[in-house]
Amino acid sequence: MIKSIVQLLNITKTFPGSIAVSALRGLDLEIRRGEMTAIVGPSGAGKSTLLNILGLLDVPTSGRYLLNGTDTSRLGERELTSLRAVTLGFVFQAFHLLPHLNCVGNVMLPLAHQGWPRRERARLATEALVRVGLGHRLDARPATLSGGERQRVAVARAVVHSPSVILCDEPTGNLDRENSTQVMDLLRRQVTPERSLIIVTHDDAASACADRVVKVVDGVVC
Ligand code: ADP
Repeated sequence: MIKSIVQLLNITKTFPGSIAVSALRGLDLEIRRGEMTAIVGPSGAGKSTLLNILGLLDVPTSGRYLLNGTDTSRLGERELTSLRAVTLGFVFQAFHLLPHLNCVGNVMLPLAHQGWPRRERARLATEALVRVGLGHRLDARPATLSGGERQRVAVARAVVHSPSVILCDEPTGNLDRENSTQVMDLLRRQVTPERSLIIVTHDDAASACADRVVKVVDGVVC
């Protein structure tokens, strides 16, 4: 098995406009399996741009991104969508749960692409919710949950399809200290020898949970 799950090689990202913005300027980054990495840095440094590229939600202007050994620059839109669905899980600051679905329905969503029968998807979602301590709220709608509970549903959704990489964008940004600690413990427990976690955060307590802290300044790792 290849040791690096993520390799970014000389990545640039320029946003065109009357004044073009160079958000990433030759960034190199390697993430190993089984590692939790915190990405920190000042506002405007390029962290969100980097996370979007890591999440296959945006493409670099130049450079190579190898994910699980696959050179993503060679893939078309359909292949990227499929690689994203199978390999990546996402946790966002604002939870991004669908309000009309209950917890099981939300956690089943990443399994939709994998062609399993509904009953099997519901079983896996239920198991994931039990693992994050929400076995008693399976039928609850997001609006009836606390912020900490919503983020736990989001963590269950991020891992239900056994992704190789979990990408987290300020996962404690909307939580109080106690819930932040619980969510970070929960995220930390999702790291396995095969699975890595990458978290963009301003929260020192969150980055303290990481094996490695990567600082991005002016579009490069410093
Ligand atoms: P951070 O997440 O570290 O605050 P960003 O990645 O959001 O930094 O932004 C890096 C730079 O790229 C900033 O100067 C920002 O204004 C610019 N930028 C980000 N997204 C866009 C976009 N879609 N269009 C133009 N400029 C952008």
